[in-house]
Amino acid sequence: MSRKRIVAGNWKMNLLRDEAKALVSEITAMLSDEEMRNPEIILFPSFLHIHLAVSMVAGDPRIHVGGQNCADKRMGAFTGEVSAAMLRSFGCSHVLIGHSERRIHFNETDSLLASKITLVLSEKLTAVFCIGENRSERESGQAFDAVQRQLTEGLFHLEPEKIRECILAYEPVWAIGTGLTATPEQAQEMHAFIRGAVENRYGSEISNSLSILYGGSCNEKNAASLFSLPDVDGGLIGGASLKSRSFVDIVKSLPS
Ligand code: PEP
Repeated sequence: MSRKRIVAGNWKMNLLRDEAKALVSEITAMLSDEEMRNPEIILFPSFLHIHLAVSMVAGDPRIHVGGQNCADKRMGAFTGEVSAAMLRSFGCSHVLIGHSERRIHFNETDSLLASKITLVLSEKLTAVFCIGENRSERESGQAFDAVQRQLTEGLFHLEPEKIRECILAYEPVWAIGTGLTATPEQAQEMHAFIRGAVENRYGSEISNSLSILYGGSCNEKNAASLFSLPDVDGGLIGGASLKSRSFVDIVKSLPS
């Protein structure tokens, strides 16, 4: 079964207005020169840059824009928060849920993420749900248990028709922003495990159609070997998504 091949760029809390504008303009210009077989590209700028990014990519069906986070409430007196519906109304199609930086620095728990993802999907946004073990879990042989727990408690409450609206991103925490990339063997082993867990819960038709991205120090040098693995359907890119040439080269590493 063919699955969507996706490269997503998570800009985190980087780039001032003009820098964001320059990055989107360089990416769109470079992509227009490339012969590419419909890759799906998702940009995750800061909330403030979403309007700009959406207006700049309008008309290019390959490029989508999403929020890096959203509130776990629909609306109301929650100062400083941004709702899923607001993201939708500004032209976002995707939201990152459960990035490890949200789990670690903002204490986002599996149960909070479970309610956020339900809300996001009810607003007709696609959730990119991030999971991954930390370094001590990897070193103590508990990586698979940690990932299974995140799936069971954060995702597997969803009905089958809702899980189809999700993309998964396996991001080992020890690989994010560290320059330590999972080896192809480690990545394939965990992606196959995740697909197997989805199959156990939802059956093979759904598990075979779900895109699972790899994230963690993925760059233009290692992307091709990661993206060629049978259960890796693309990447969620942090640092390397801030450089247009690197990001477009990563997109070009997707197999046809
Ligand atoms: C990320 O933040 O999702 C990420 C994968 O970061 P980096 O590529 O910088 O490791």
